[in-house]
Amino acid sequence: MTRPGRIQLLPDHVINKIAAGEVIERPASVLKELLENALDAGATAIEVQLVDGGRKLIRVADDGSGMTRDEALLAVERHATSKIRDSEDIEHITTLGFRGEALAAISAVSRFTLLTRPAEELEGTELQIAGGRMVSVEAAGCPPGTDIAVRNLFFNVPARKKFLRAAATEQQHARQMFLLHALAHPEVGFRLTLDEREVHRLTPAEGLAARLGELYGPDFAADLLPVDFSRAGYRVRGLAGKPTLHRSDRTDQVTFVNTRPASAAVIHYAIGEVYKGAIPRGRHPVLFLFLDVPPDAVDVNVHPTKKEVRFRNNTAVRDTLIEALATALNRLVAAPAQPGGPSAAAPRPAAPPSLAPEPLNLPDLHPPFPRKKPDPPHTDILPPAAAPEAPQPAPEPAAESPWGRAEFLGHIAEGYAVLAIPEGMLLLDPQAAHERVLYEQYLAQIRHAKIPGQPLLHPETLDLPPVKADTLRRNLKALHELGFGISDFGGDTFMVDSLPACLGAAPLRELIDDLATTLEEGGRKSALKDLVRERIARSACATAVRGGHRLREEEVLTLLDRLARADMPYTCPHGRPTVILTRKSELDRKFGKT
Ligand code: ADP
Ligand code: MG
Repeated sequence: MTRPGRIQLLPDHVINKIAAGEVIERPASVLKELLENALDAGATAIEVQLVDGGRKLIRVADDGSGMTRDEALLAVERHATSKIRDSEDIEHITTLGFRGEALAAISAVSRFTLLTRPAEELEGTELQIAGGRMVSVEAAGCPPGTDIAVRNLFFNVPARKKFLRAAATEQQHARQMFLLHALAHPEVGFRLTLDEREVHRLTPAEGLAARLGELYGPDFAADLLPVDFSRAGYRVRGLAGKPTLHRSDRTDQVTFVNTRPASAAVIHYAIGEVYKGAIPRGRHPVLFLFLDVPPDAVDVNVHPTKKEVRFRNNTAVRDTLIEALATALNRLVAAPAQPGGPSAAAPRPAAPPSLAPEPLNLPDLHPPFPRKKPDPPHTDILPPAAAPEAPQPAPEPAAESPWGRAEFLGHIAEGYAVLAIPEGMLLLDPQAAHERVLYEQYLAQIRHAKIPGQPLLHPETLDLPPVKADTLRRNLKALHELGFGISDFGGDTFMVDSLPACLGAAPLRELIDDLATTLEEGGRKSALKDLVRERIARSACATAVRGGHRLREEEVLTLLDRLARADMPYTCPHGRPTVILTRKSELDRKFGKT
């Protein structure tokens, strides 16, 4: 009987080549490993060079700790690391690397040169490895630090090489990797050379904002708000884009966990929660966020490239992020450190965004909604003098307003209101502001399940296809709570006799059809609420004062006051700005008084 070959342990260079497949995917992944090593080695200056998008050469030189000859020889062995000693240490990772496999993997699939010297040694070492085989080990003169050159990546793994993309694409990925690390470490100087052309020379900077300024110009940072919030060993710091700044994808949404570029589903979730309703659907805010958590509260060992991390306590991460961002965004136009006033260092405790309902101002709702009214100007914004069923909430003291005391100066350009505030000048778009105020009012109503049903003049009957009819039938109760007066008429026919007041005059059939589809797909009440939310946003837009409408002074001030108390004051429900603040410092700069 013949047997299909004996079981054998594979030689190391074969193991490394196999393992390389996991860690090393493309030039950008090589760059990532080399940058992490340089940073772990305490470098203060790092030079990166790419030729042909990294396909010909990826070189990273640092001025970090360097390695002795013995250390260098060990460093290129698999599972050789100076960063952890035993399995306990895996629970408290504070360095970027720890798996001890990057150098072994990279040198297994490239022509690899390592030149290194610790500052205290007189002589350095040069190792040359080709496809995992040591070619030479020599003494060499070199500056202190480490200089690694990776040539002809995947030259000995044709199957992998085939998957490399055009140089331009690989270069773009590598460049993004460079940027991530440059952002994560503003204190380190970085240089990037692409095919002999220097494209970045970043001097050590005073923090993230300064580094962003170096990279994208000084104006970019003006649209970002500082975030710095800690609680119970968790800290969130960085910069969050104003809701007026949004992108079609997440490229400019950069998150770091313990200064490692990384993300997790819970991070995306928290960001989505805070920006929901402030930026248009399907768009993404711009964020540069650092989440610092205790080393034993995060598992970075989930993925070989460490891109995704897992948290021990997702709820803590979510809540901290939400509170950090909500605080930062609410402070958008908060006056900085007025004497005696609230200062940036002592922010007022931000309520979780969805839990602080505004007192309802029912007088604002005049169902059916007033459409465009002719003269005299309608005064929806000011509650009628006598509104017995809804007592006016006591106006909050002016100091509570994020705008401080505002003085109305007049209108310009088709109805924008101009206001003087302690910080500078505020321009208000009354239409966008009113949309926001109405939207939040309506939302508060849904939260309280207080949505009044608005009876239809002519109740309508509708026939639905069987599946939709069935879905609707099973959800009638939830729908009633939201103000839909829908009853089962037998067969697949329904009668609709009222709609939530805040929906305005919606085409009925389309609406009910949408509802059924939402229920089928989402299946849950939250999906339904999202739909209603979207509808409400639309109807808030339809109901708000029109652009170009000149409000009276008291109306402007009342509107501003209500806006100040909104959860998301600075954009309308579809993401357009409600106010534009020009700070005194900006005016000074523009008038050349800096
Ligand atoms: P890891 O970073 O996971 O420890 P690597 O294979 O990336 O594994 O590196 C192996 C070891 O080589 C590191 O633990 C470190 O001691 C040493 N090393 C690698 N790169 C550098 C560098 N740029 N400067 C100093 N030491 C380095
Ligand atoms: Mg490493």
